[in-house]
Amino acid sequence: MIQFQHPEDREFFANLLTGGDQEKLEKEFSDCFDFRHPAIKRWEFNKIKRKLLKELILKHGGKCQLRIHLDCSKDGKFEPDHIIPLSTNELNKKLRHMARTSSEKVPSQSFGSNDIKNLLLSCKRCNAYKKHKLIMPNGANPK
Ligand SMILES: [Zn+2]
Repeated sequence: MIQFQHPEDREFFANLLTGGDQEKLEKEFSDCFDFRHPAIKRWEFNKIKRKLLKELILKHGGKCQLRIHLDCSKDGKFEPDHIIPLSTNELNKKLRHMARTSSEKVPSQSFGSNDIKNLLLSCKRCNAYKKHKLIMPNGANPK
């Protein structure tokens, strides 16, 4: 079982990735989650980033999978991008209505993995534009 912190998190990702099918989420997306501390995941990601980029360029023929920025692919620079972010506070905001205070931001949760299934090829512009938002590119759902 994917070890979600809250049952509503499971529901959220099922809605986002499998049209609400929690069984399918377990079957097809378990590799896409890694709940360890984001700093560890980021450190591991930086070590394998170049190798992953090469694999993704081969897999997607050097085309940006996001295509959300007006100047998509303009400078021809690409990077691997996490479909499910390594960490995000969006669920705390959206599902649990936590709000930032004057001194503290809404805390983030750890979600995404560095598995190739959780990565897509993004141009630098789209990646910068997306930041930590949860945007599902068309046809980029891992199988
Ligand atoms: Zn792009």
